[in-house]
Amino acid sequence: MKTNLPTLPAAPPVALDPSVVCPPCGLCCKHVAVDIGAPTSVQGVSTALWLVYHRGVSIYQDHDGDWFLLVPTDCGNLLPDGLCAVYHDRPLVCRDYDVDGCEGTSAEPAEKVRFDDAASLVAWLARKRPALYRRCVEKGVVPEALRPRP
Ligand code: SF4
Ligand code: SF4
Repeated sequence: MKTNLPTLPAAPPVALDPSVVCPPCGLCCKHVAVDIGAPTSVQGVSTALWLVYHRGVSIYQDHDGDWFLLVPTDCGNLLPDGLCAVYHDRPLVCRDYDVDGCEGTSAEPAEKVRFDDAASLVAWLARKRPALYRRCVEKGVVPEALRPRP
């Protein structure tokens, strides 16, 4: 996870500006996202498949084109009211997280593409990266059962 949780004002303002005030929804404290290499080679696709073979693990590409491993899991410091129990000593990655356009304030999904299982990843690869998909099949990293039927 990653977030920057400014303290809410004592009295609610007339209008909250989501670019400067964080409604403590806690969404950004409920997963871990780690940079991974893009699946742009046989090796990269094989690694991406290995990741999503694991239950509860997803991968996604963000709108900047970067790829991430995504594991849904609540941070142990997340309080029931959405605030952080270690706010003043929180990890640097949490401080760097920008509320502007975060998942709690943006209507746009964080993911450009997201894969929760191997079948959806292979189907996307076959459709969007057919040459790479064929190389992966030739190299034996795409099991028969996952290959889309023509
Ligand atoms: S340390 Fe605090 S801000 Fe960081 S993920 Fe955990 S609850 Fe959220
Ligand atoms: S997702 Fe956004 S609004 Fe929600 S707690 Fe995190 S920074 Fe705040």
